[in-house]
Amino acid sequence: MEPAQVTDRSDTRESTLLRQRGYMLMLAVSSYAMDALILALYAAFGTGSVPAWASPAYVVAGLVVNGLFYLAFRAGLHRLGQDRYLTLPQMATAGIVQVTFAMLLPEAAVLFLMALFVIMAFGGLRLSLKQIIFGWAVAAVGLTLVVMFVPMQSGWPHATTAERLISALAMTLALLRMAYLGSYNYALRMTVHRRSLELDTMLRQIERLATRDELTGALNRRSLQILLEEQLQLAAAGGQGFCVALLDLDHFKTVNDTYGHLTGDAVLKRFAELASSTTRGHERVGRYGGEEFLAIMNTSSLVGAAAAVERIRSSIANHDWAALAPGLTLTVSAGVALYKHGDRVESLLQRADQALYRAKGRGRNQVVTEAQ
Ligand code: GH3
Ligand code: MG
Ligand code: MG
Repeated sequence: MEPAQVTDRSDTRESTLLRQRGYMLMLAVSSYAMDALILALYAAFGTGSVPAWASPAYVVAGLVVNGLFYLAFRAGLHRLGQDRYLTLPQMATAGIVQVTFAMLLPEAAVLFLMALFVIMAFGGLRLSLKQIIFGWAVAAVGLTLVVMFVPMQSGWPHATTAERLISALAMTLALLRMAYLGSYNYALRMTVHRRSLELDTMLRQIERLATRDELTGALNRRSLQILLEEQLQLAAAGGQGFCVALLDLDHFKTVNDTYGHLTGDAVLKRFAELASSTTRGHERVGRYGGEEFLAIMNTSSLVGAAAAVERIRSSIANHDWAALAPGLTLTVSAGVALYKHGDRVESLLQRADQALYRAKGRGRNQVVTEAQ
């Protein structure tokens, strides 16, 4: 099963690469098509500085070069090296084609030299800075040699209005390609940006799912366990002492039986809201399970902790529960215990639970400490 899945995934990756390579080739072909059009326009409307064979020759060159790369991709040549898109070889070939045409048709050389900018921008989509500098250095040496040692008077046709117009069109189209390639980079950046925002949101959701109780949004049992372990280690190492309190809704089964499970759920939610709005910075409350909540308080005073839990108890007792369901009232009982040296999470919670049990036995709606 596993190997098949791996193949599937790498197949998808391979087909994405193939599609992207197809796209790059299509870009290259349409770039050749634009310049071929310009050459044809010069030939048709110009003064003869660009011969009729130029455009078809350029088309043939473009088809041959890109066809060869298409075959190379088909044959899997791109798998031989690091450059999965064969970008550098494509740039080098295209560069040679342009310089050759510039030498063959010096009167329209500017057209082909402008194409070098487009080729460089094209490379910028895929190449690392190091590769770009390498490509640039090769181009710099090649161009310098051509300019220095090949006798040619390069220019662009501009004898007539038609030629000037076509030349302007040539430059405009070159600019268009540069801008398009730039926008491709922009789109790429936006995709990365969007993906990272999505990841952020997903991460927050996962974090929330992992740490929060689904119904009440309060810390879940798992987070409470982690917090308890942390507090315990801190206290055991001689740091801040702490107290815990188990809070259990009184006669909650009756609430469910009388008002229905949905109202019961709403009560649990409201309880969590009230409890957390009552707590202060150093106190945390979470849902320990069912209708039981656990408070962790950074204080080594049992009396101080009991007072904090008492605030929760009274806010529950005084809340207008009838607004949720007519006639509904609710109280909570709690047992508080103080960490003492040698405690484990279980022993500490057990003392809190025993205190809670006494609170229930003494008539509920009260806070009892392990000392009472
Ligand atoms: P006591 O005062 O002794 O604590 O009585 P009690 O009825 O609260 O205690 P008991 O343990 O008998 O019942 C707890 C009830 O809490 C039973 C269970 O159905 C209900 N309960 C637990 N989790 C949920 C929940 O997520 N939603 C709802 N609606 N009820 C829940
Ligand atoms: Mg209970
Ligand atoms: Mg209960």
